[in-house]
Amino acid sequence: MSSLSARASVGRSGFRDLKVVAKVKENAIITSFLLEPVQAQGWRPYQPGQFLVFRIPVSEETAGAKEYVLRNYSVSGSSSVVGTYRISVKREAAPAPGLPVGVSSCFLHDKVEVGDVLSAEGPRGDFVLDMGSDRPVVLVSGGVGLTPMVSMLHALASTPDRRVVFIHACENGDVHALREEVLALAATRPGITVHFCYRYPTERDGSDRKFHSEGVVSREMLQRLLPLDDYDFYLCGPPPFMQAVYATVRVLGVPKTRIAYEFFGPATVLDIAPPTVTAPPKVEIAADDKAVVVEFRKSGVKAAWDGVSSLLEFAEEQGLEPEFSCRAGVCSTCKSRLIDGEVSYFEEPLDELEPGEVLLCCSRPRGSVVLDI
Ligand SMILES: Cc1cc2nc3c(=O)[nH]c(=O)nc-3n(C[C@H](O)[C@H](O)[C@H](O)COP(=O)(O)OP(=O)(O)OC[C@H]3O[C@@H](n4cnc5c(N)ncnc54)[C@H](O)[C@@H]3O)c2cc1C
Repeated sequence: MSSLSARASVGRSGFRDLKVVAKVKENAIITSFLLEPVQAQGWRPYQPGQFLVFRIPVSEETAGAKEYVLRNYSVSGSSSVVGTYRISVKREAAPAPGLPVGVSSCFLHDKVEVGDVLSAEGPRGDFVLDMGSDRPVVLVSGGVGLTPMVSMLHALASTPDRRVVFIHACENGDVHALREEVLALAATRPGITVHFCYRYPTERDGSDRKFHSEGVVSREMLQRLLPLDDYDFYLCGPPPFMQAVYATVRVLGVPKTRIAYEFFGPATVLDIAPPTVTAPPKVEIAADDKAVVVEFRKSGVKAAWDGVSSLLEFAEEQGLEPEFSCRAGVCSTCKSRLIDGEVSYFEEPLDELEPGEVLLCCSRPRGSVVLDI
């Protein structure tokens, strides 16, 4: 196959063509793809932690009338290497016989070869390494959630002395990707600690001493690994892993402001028991010309904007439960109607919006707004 791209564009934003220049099988379930822009202008630098959005063509049987699906893949390589992106993709098998396999991951694994061209947008995403901070960093990943962490580790390894603890949890050595690369990065300078935690290590993992602890990421493990300090935490993995690790880290007293996270799969709310409001109380706000008021009309909720990251997060703080998936302006699941006012986007929505539509996950109000939720 020579071109998988539906349309080509090479501007500073929008989709452009990326050619597969190498395909590397990391293990039985994870394969990496090295991608280079077909046209030089297609190169856009990225920050460690960011992802690309791919347009993956699908057959009619797998997705009805759709021509393609959009899927995100974090860049797993070093952001200082200009002109090349690496993504590492886990093959998502069918969870039970008779169910379909993962559309995009299986397409990439089974159909895409060196020389093929993929259509991708980005980099985007605000799960990025804060290089301005000098606090020690803890990178905690589950499964293929290690991809943005490896990119971050590349950047951190090139700093002179920032302390780093890289914790990776997976099933066993057979599905542990990029292991040697992580160990090599850790060996480049003192101050980088690596801890691999296998849930079900094989006998061979034991004899080869491939892991440091057995089981899951626990409070005891974190306490053992992390001397008391003020850390920047970065978490990435599937939703159940994230909920468990987030709760553990919070129990250790780490403030929310020190924890950055990214979900692989539909994003969810990390605090396991968010408030559920069946009949939201009507909140009256004292008239104040300067206050920015967000009204959720259908829910009968009005509240003063408190500067949180997005309108979606603000709605959740008020006990509402708007639908969402990616939380990154990609999937449009949180699209809502703006009855009054204006919003600004801190992340440009991938799809063009009709007048009066708003994506809650990547916008903030510009003055008071009324939303139809
Ligand atoms: C910000 C971000 C970054 C990401 N980075 C990476 C990365 O670096 N590497 C990576 O591998 N992934 C990454 N992901 C996940 C990736 O975007 C895809 O979600 C993943 O590859 C699965 O997509 P898919 O199309 O293969 O599976 P889908 O088609 O979306 O299916 C998902 C699963 O559901 C199952 N399924 C399908 N239909 C049914 C059904 N009817 N009933 C029951 N089960 C069903 C499939 O078999 C599969 O196991 C990232 C996600 C996000 C949000």
